[in-house]
Amino acid sequence: MSKRLVIISNRLPLSINKRKGKLSYQPSSGGLATGMSSFYQKYDSLWIGWPGYAPESKTEQQDITQELADKKMSPVFLSRRQVELYYEGFSNKTIWPLFHYFSQYTLYDSKSWLAYKRVNQIFCDKVLEHIQPNDILWVHDYHLLLLPGMIREKTRDALIGFFLHIPFPSYELFRTLPWRQEIMNGILGADLIGFHTYDYVRHFLSSTSRIVGLEHSLARLRHDDRVIKVDSFPMGIDYDKYHETPKQDKVQKEIKKFKTRLKTEKIILSIDRLDYSKGIPQRLEGYHQFLHDHPEYREKITLIMLVVPSRARVESYRKLKYQLDELVGRINGEHGTIGWTPIYYLYRSVPFHVLSALYNMSDVGLVTPFRDGMNLVSKEFVASKRSDKGGVLILSEMAGSSHELGEAIMINPNNIAEIAHAIKTALEIPLEEQKHTLEEMNLKLKRYSVKRWAEDFMERLLQTHGLSENLASKKITTRLRQFISRKFNESKKRVLILDYDGTLVGYARTPEKAKPTAQVRSVLKHLSQLPNCMVIINSGRKRETLQDWFGDLEVNFIAEHGAWLKRYQAEWFTIESLNTAWKSEIMPILEHYVMRTPGSFIEEKNYSLVWHYRKANVGLGALRATELMDSLKYMTANLNLQVMEGNKVIEVKNAGVNKGRAALRYLEEISADFILAMGDDWTDEYMFRDMPNSAYTIKVGYHATSATYSMRSPQEALAFLEDLSKSALRDSDQS
Ligand code: UDP
Repeated sequence: MSKRLVIISNRLPLSINKRKGKLSYQPSSGGLATGMSSFYQKYDSLWIGWPGYAPESKTEQQDITQELADKKMSPVFLSRRQVELYYEGFSNKTIWPLFHYFSQYTLYDSKSWLAYKRVNQIFCDKVLEHIQPNDILWVHDYHLLLLPGMIREKTRDALIGFFLHIPFPSYELFRTLPWRQEIMNGILGADLIGFHTYDYVRHFLSSTSRIVGLEHSLARLRHDDRVIKVDSFPMGIDYDKYHETPKQDKVQKEIKKFKTRLKTEKIILSIDRLDYSKGIPQRLEGYHQFLHDHPEYREKITLIMLVVPSRARVESYRKLKYQLDELVGRINGEHGTIGWTPIYYLYRSVPFHVLSALYNMSDVGLVTPFRDGMNLVSKEFVASKRSDKGGVLILSEMAGSSHELGEAIMINPNNIAEIAHAIKTALEIPLEEQKHTLEEMNLKLKRYSVKRWAEDFMERLLQTHGLSENLASKKITTRLRQFISRKFNESKKRVLILDYDGTLVGYARTPEKAKPTAQVRSVLKHLSQLPNCMVIINSGRKRETLQDWFGDLEVNFIAEHGAWLKRYQAEWFTIESLNTAWKSEIMPILEHYVMRTPGSFIEEKNYSLVWHYRKANVGLGALRATELMDSLKYMTANLNLQVMEGNKVIEVKNAGVNKGRAALRYLEEISADFILAMGDDWTDEYMFRDMPNSAYTIKVGYHATSATYSMRSPQEALAFLEDLSKSALRDSDQS
């Protein structure tokens, strides 16, 4: 079956208007719609979203649905109240300000939160109504943070991508959200999670670690039985459109009109949607200071400030509008003359050919947001320039686009003096230099256009699905279990090599809770009493502990990750005599880290030292672990030692000691015709790798492994072992 792309975003890419009782549909030319357009040919597609219009009757609703179906769209109709609470409320009064670091504007209102959940559920129902096997789902933006998780709950196998178009804030901001856990789980329903920049990726991964306890490896998370990839995809623009349109007569006429009206030598351009995240008042203050510091530029320059009305029903936006009106009035009043207005202020949106004219004719683009997920205006300004003319971009380092447009003059938007100074610098950069930097930036924008961005995301999404499928392919099936059980029963000499923590029991936070349960002991007891069945517990724990917990059973031991061995009813021994003089050198380093990381502690084993940080603050623990790994690697470079990072532990031990080598020591002495090895973490990978090909190796937990099969949890592992012993008993009873 061919693949179909289902795009889900808050708004459908069109607007609906009603005039004289007749509905009209205008397609929107926004970046997203352009980016997606190439897929319309490649895939069958469907776009699900709110049409931004409330039908007046059931019949009108049906008409709209019918009309949109022909355009491959499916509308999600929302009541006025839902729009108020979900869109204006939670999306724009909670998530938007918080994710843009405006905690002072962030409202925590449980009514809006409930509406947000409800509307995400309505979107989910709409998706479920349409979804077909093989569909690729791409969910967009902060209005639908819960949607990937909701879809995942209903369809385990769906392929879901999620892209956030705004910044993802630092953990310190995100943690303040009362509903952070639900939101995190919602996003984690996706297979691929995309952000504009690597900084947002970092912030997100830090939150997954601290809030959900998920650690990543190369920005891959393993959650339930899925691999989730987190990556950055800086959204581009429709480069050719912005680069070619200025050539049109219509645009050139517009440019002439502006120039005759303004009469100044140089034009500075500022374009934004009305939003407090855009730093417009500070920009005006910067311009004000520039005029003050450099009177020689008076009457020679104009700032064209285009502000597009937005979210006028939200109080903080209305206030901002008053503030701008007042500021523009003050600056024009203070510096203006009879023939000259320093700021040419437009509060409206303009048609595309006017926008193109403004971009093309301006000498300086002044873009100063406090925070901006990407900021397309800065890219459009650059793309609209032709390299024979010149033009300079002043760009806030807080805009996502600053990561790509490094050639711009960078400013900190909070630094008004710096803005003023940047304007001066921009006006005086020699033309040749302007052309050169424009060329560099244009090259990048042309290469990574919005179409390339969308293709890149889709390619990566399809690959991510492959990763999860690989993982899934190792999942043990009922038939395989039965097969292994049969082989177990048929064998003459069987060996079971079992890790303890994470394999037979889950990880425990306290020593008391780590002790084996009655069920674990009973399973081990029954297995070890079967004829010709050798049970080896292969653990990282100290030999005293293993002896204490299982000494009364007919089992064999490997302790301390392979340093010590003990056959049933025999004495402990080591494979070779190991030198431990290194401990006195390493111990002070670990003690230093214990002091700097409250909650962490050292465990001393005969042939290793372990620094545990499970009980430390998650973030601090992870940070110190990275530092400690670095210093230990340096310190142990010339010693025959291994430094290994495990599940919230760092262990230093003699090289050549591992669970695999120790297990082989047992296997060399007997000729087993059935070997089963089970383990859960990296230390068990040595064992999996060293086992003969005929052995059955099982990883507990769905993580990358060299074992042949995977099982979900210790509970499942224990139940499997229990079945094994019961079926063997039944078998021997029958024979
Ligand atoms: N824009 C527009 N009409 C106008 C002025 C601007 O459609 O009259 C567009 C502009 O071309 C840009 C978008 O609005 O594509 C603003 O995107 P940006 O990423 O800069 O900021 P956002 O509004 O998404 O926060």
